[in-house]
Amino acid sequence: MKGLKTHYDPFGNPNDEYSFSDYGYCGTYISDGNSSGYKSSVTCKKCKKMFEKTDAERLIARQQELDDMQGYVDFVNESPNK
Ligand SMILES: [Zn+2]
Repeated sequence: MKGLKTHYDPFGNPNDEYSFSDYGYCGTYISDGNSSGYKSSVTCKKCKKMFEKTDAERLIARQQELDDMQGYVDFVNESPNK
């Protein structure tokens, strides 16, 4: 078999080889369990790109959350009525 890629499948059960999603993270149909919940085992470039992007977005969102919290703290500290 040539070019059988391992797709990222965050919903598959790694302890059960018969449990995997119908579609990989990139939207490719998974016909015979050529997927993995472990990012390090993934060879599909599309899947990698997808979860790298998602991870980056999660980091940005987290940073924004922290900024918002800091903004709130600043707001409370600047509030005159205390
Ligand atoms: Zn894929």
